[in-house]
Formats: sequence, structure tokens, C-alpha cells
Amino acid sequence: MTYRDIAFDDRMDTVDFDVGDRPHITVDTDICRSCTTKACVPACPAKLFIPTGDGGILFNYEQCFECGTCYQVCNSEGAISWTYPDGGHGVVFRKG
Ligand code: SF4
Ligand code: SF4
Repeated sequence: MTYRDIAFDDRMDTVDFDVGDRPHITVDTDICRSCTTKACVPACPAKLFIPTGDGGILFNYEQCFECGTCYQVCNSEGAISWTYPDGGHGVVFRKG
């Protein structure tokens, strides 16, 4: 299978998010405050982890690609609770 040449931004314009009511990923910001690496911040391709001034993390699941990278790089047990979105929700990739 081949894909036509397309700029990254144009490719991302073809991605839809059918956001479910239930957050499929939750972050315990109390644990994040004592995290020294904040590895999730540069690792998330959607830039959904935002460091706060008090050492915590702001997180929004709505544009998550469901790649699982944050769960893999986080070294603080219990900080991230990760599941897939409920059926019919989440990211929708289109070929193009
Ligand atoms: S989610 Fe994990 S890696 Fe990210 S700030 Fe919290 S404890 Fe650190
Ligand atoms: S699963 Fe991937 S896109 Fe979603 S929050 Fe984690 S790193 Fe970001």
C-alpha cells in the first residue's frame, strides 16, 4: 500500500476525535508533583501533558492518539491510569 505525499499538518487535518464522556486516561497530579523527569511532557506526540508552575501536570485526554507512549515512559507507579476509549470513541485515522 502506498500513501500520497502530504504535509504533516494536512495529514493531521484528516484525523478526527470522537471524544467519549469517560476519560480513558487519568493522571494523578499529586504523584506528578514529586516526579523529577516529567518524561510524559516531551514524549506525548499530541502535547497533552502541560507542566504547571507548582510542579504538577495538566492533562486533557480529548486529542489522544492512544499510542500508549505516556504509560511506557512514566516511571511513577499509579500516576497514569490507561485504558482504551469506550467502543466507537477515540481517534479516527483516515487514509489519504
Ligand atoms: S505522568 Fe508520570 S512522567 Fe508524567 S509527570 Fe506524572 S509521574 Fe512524571
Ligand atoms: S496515549 Fe499517546 S497521545 Fe495519548 S496521552 Fe499518552 S502519549 Fe499522548
